[in-house]
Amino acid sequence: MKYDLHSHTRFSDGHLTPIQLIERAIEKGVDVLAITDHDTVAGYLDAQAHLAEHPRDITLISGVEISTKWHGFEVHIVGLNLDVTHPELTALLQSQQTKRLERAEKIAAKLSKCGFPDMLEAAKNLAGDGEITRAHFAEVLYNQGHVKSMQKAFDKFIGKGKGCYVASQWCEITTAIAAIKAAGGQAVLAHPTRYDLSKKWLRKLLAEFKTAGGDAIEVARPQQAPTERQHLGRLANEYQLLGSQGSDFHFPTNWLELGKNLYLPKDCDGIWQRF
Ligand code: AMP
Ligand code: MN
Ligand code: MN
Ligand code: MN
Repeated sequence: MKYDLHSHTRFSDGHLTPIQLIERAIEKGVDVLAITDHDTVAGYLDAQAHLAEHPRDITLISGVEISTKWHGFEVHIVGLNLDVTHPELTALLQSQQTKRLERAEKIAAKLSKCGFPDMLEAAKNLAGDGEITRAHFAEVLYNQGHVKSMQKAFDKFIGKGKGCYVASQWCEITTAIAAIKAAGGQAVLAHPTRYDLSKKWLRKLLAEFKTAGGDAIEVARPQQAPTERQHLGRLANEYQLLGSQGSDFHFPTNWLELGKNLYLPKDCDGIWQRF
């Protein structure tokens, strides 16, 4: 069975519609796909409704990727296989969505001062019905020719510590885990090596995540050194956490694909045993 438990659609900063994402996942041999948009389950709901009418040969798992704050770091918690109508989860996502809009207004104000006017409207246009993210601002800056790549937009303007960065007021990790557990889901620490944490701080994060009721950490992603996968597998075992795997697919590129290179180290148990 090929599991890909981390992916995005147009309902956050992904480029594909939920249906396009599902079609691509099937094409790439994915058996079980979780849609985990930033702070929304709208993309999952759309996909689920479509599959109910047009059954396809793939299992869809409900999901969400919640932005949290932790000692000044922005840590992402993925919720899997949850009741997406649960009131505690719904209330948390509503609050996160309001924070996204408020932050977007502040980012646009800073960009305007840097000589880039009218960015809020442009970013909102790109986001459409979906949640607005910094990736939308990065795309606008790129589309208008102000930066050579979306990554450069983060590096020069909207990344942490840059001139147009706005510190977010995301919920605490404990709040995100509690809402996921209340909704009957599994809480997964997303991409643990992407927070620029020292070894000591990563261990502190894993210990606190476990204590707060966390279930698993992402051990495998397509673009990683084998040593990282083994290392994260060992850490998962040490902290009595299960392993998860996902591509974090946003849009087609030459270097990342749905379902590609996803497997857990031999001694690491998959979160899907709880589904
Ligand atoms: P947000 O959650 O609104 O802060 O947006 C962050 C999103 O932007 C991430 O989920 C990534 O998809 C995307 N992104 C791309 N490059 C970077 C970067 N260098 N730093 C942070 N986010 C990035
Ligand atoms: Mn993203
Ligand atoms: Mn993330
Ligand atoms: Mn993601």
